Amino acid sequence: MNSLISPDEANVRIRKYLSDFGSAKLPLEQCAGRILRQPVLADRPFPPFDRSMMDGYALRSAEIGGNGRFQIKIQIPAGSPQASLGSQASICAEIMTGAPVPGDADCVVPYEATERLDKSGMRLLSPDAHQRGDCIHLLGSDLERGATLLSPGCRIGGREIAAAASCGYAKFEVARPPSIAVISTGDELVDVSSAPEAHQIRRSNDLSIEAALTQQHLPVAKRAHLPDDPDISKARLEALIEQHDILIISGGISMGNRDFIPETLTALGLNGHFHGVAQKPGKPMGFWSHSNCAVFALPGNPSSTLTCLHHYVIPAILQAMGDTTPRIPRRVTLEAPVKARDDLTVFLPVQLLPDNRAHARPTQNSGDLVRILTSDGFIKVPITAEKAYPPGTLFDFHPWY
Ligand code: AMP
Ligand code: MG
Repeated sequence: MNSLISPDEANVRIRKYLSDFGSAKLPLEQCAGRILRQPVLADRPFPPFDRSMMDGYALRSAEIGGNGRFQIKIQIPAGSPQASLGSQASICAEIMTGAPVPGDADCVVPYEATERLDKSGMRLLSPDAHQRGDCIHLLGSDLERGATLLSPGCRIGGREIAAAASCGYAKFEVARPPSIAVISTGDELVDVSSAPEAHQIRRSNDLSIEAALTQQHLPVAKRAHLPDDPDISKARLEALIEQHDILIISGGISMGNRDFIPETLTALGLNGHFHGVAQKPGKPMGFWSHSNCAVFALPGNPSSTLTCLHHYVIPAILQAMGDTTPRIPRRVTLEAPVKARDDLTVFLPVQLLPDNRAHARPTQNSGDLVRILTSDGFIKVPITAEKAYPPGTLFDFHPWY
């Protein structure tokens, strides 16, 4: 491991290298969760006509007189073209929600505020209660034609799809996710479906990494496992680097004499951006690159892997894809003092409580997956010369995906 760099510097180096993975045009129904790469403009005013907001009667407010009676002249269901009340006095139109209000009406009175007298007449129950403009969603009152509805970089969810569909966009230009390979390493690891011997453990990092990526709509193209063998690792990694945009490796990057990943990456001619971050957990983390492939190497302990994945890998990939969702970390306080280090940034698992408070769920060590399960995410505890931060200090909170 080289000299340690700070977590902020690690993020700067990763983001300096990672760049766009391109974009593609997809039908709207395939766009949920994707990152938008084009603006969406209003092709008509929002709403595109004066629309009735209620089922009831459209009338002229100036004609509301003493007995509040109106003659029902026409029916205007939703989907019918704009009609007119005509010149006769005290005429109204029976109108449905979403239908265009006649140009010579200026008020809609809902059924509930009326009494039907006969087939062609109604009376207002409280004539004084209704005014010009009531229950009319005015043309262009939400947005004018040509205005920007959505900007590039937003995450596409139901609301964005609704906006696009309303404006006639059948397809969206969206970010292409990178081709990601997730690689676990270690001779002690066996497949989830195997019965481990006493000295073996079941492999979980590759699956947990894939699950967190999937939650962020980043599909995993390939999962692979490498033994702690430099020759096999070299041949397999060479092929994987050729085939994918991003490799996320877990394990094999510490100081052990069977940790072959750093020397293998160097032997393959990769450019090392850093190896070693002043943080706990995850100190041995490294980042390498080769032509079009970025290689994140995360320490194998499950809490180190998950912390590094959430703090560095996923946010950097999303940013490279053009995601502009503001990632302002939620700030939380703890009631107890928070132990700090003068040499390492600490990522401390916490459980969220109401009112932006949190409760520390420290792991026993970075192999402790059990306590991670009782936490909602982790806080970033900056380096300080003090032994601890006092209760009430605000910390950035990062959720687990
Ligand atoms: P390493 O970073 O290779 O030294 O691994 C550190 C610890 O993490 C060891 O106890 C490993 O058994 C464990 N570990 C490494 N990879 C995995 C994995 N894919 N799933 C679960 N545990 C792992
Ligand atoms: Mg190992």
